Amino acid sequence: MYVLPPLTLGLGAVIRLAVGPGLAAGTAAIVAVLVALPVIISALTLRPRWHPKLRALPAGAAEEHLRRAAARMPPETVRAIVAARARACLRLRVDQLPVFCTSPDDPPKLRISGTFVPHGPLIIIGDAMTAPQAAFLLAHEVGHTTRCQRRIHLLWSLAMTVGWILLGLLLAPAVLPAAGLLLAVLLVAVAWGREIGADVAAARQAGEGAADWYALALETARRAPWYQRVLLASPIHPPLRLRGLYTRRITGRAPGQAA
Ligand SMILES: [Zn+2]
Repeated sequence: MYVLPPLTLGLGAVIRLAVGPGLAAGTAAIVAVLVALPVIISALTLRPRWHPKLRALPAGAAEEHLRRAAARMPPETVRAIVAARARACLRLRVDQLPVFCTSPDDPPKLRISGTFVPHGPLIIIGDAMTAPQAAFLLAHEVGHTTRCQRRIHLLWSLAMTVGWILLGLLLAPAVLPAAGLLLAVLLVAVAWGREIGADVAAARQAGEGAADWYALALETARRAPWYQRVLLASPIHPPLRLRGLYTRRITGRAPGQAA
């Protein structure tokens, strides 16, 4: 992920040097029509497109998985999962939304985290949290299912994947470093905006769990092996400490502080 942007930017620049600005602009136009156009149409229509792997799942498989995972979780956590899934289904206008709970063998970080995969669509949630922690995390993930968040995500992914090669193909080498830096700053700013937006909405809805979850996440990050800490330091997410700080302003509780 860290090597892809400079690599594709460089590839675009090399093609431009080899074939000249005219042909490079033509290549950029082809890339834009083939790759960008379908994504822009998806961002406008927001029709959920099921991932082939999810489509291939036997009917009821996701439901069976959730039923089995529910057996090892507190009933309140299961209720929070079911309620969050219902809210997300309404927003996505789908009849069902698979929820996958991590298994007890997963590393600790996975077991306290959550993610919404818009192209699934599906929600993956850790199984090692208290009910308030899970309620906050689920509220955060459901926050990513608003129409605005999904549109931003689609366009962000587009810029993240083909934006770099387009810069390389279209811009003169002299302005390329500045343009690359600007795109990187923009992508990080938009990603942080998405996360902060989902955090704020979730903390307002499930404030009790926000402070608890950040306390747990900070503690888990502190104890995590180095390779997990490198993953956690991804610039695409605001630092955990910062997220704990602004959610504290909403909930009035510092991470780890009793209610
Ligand atoms: Zn998020």
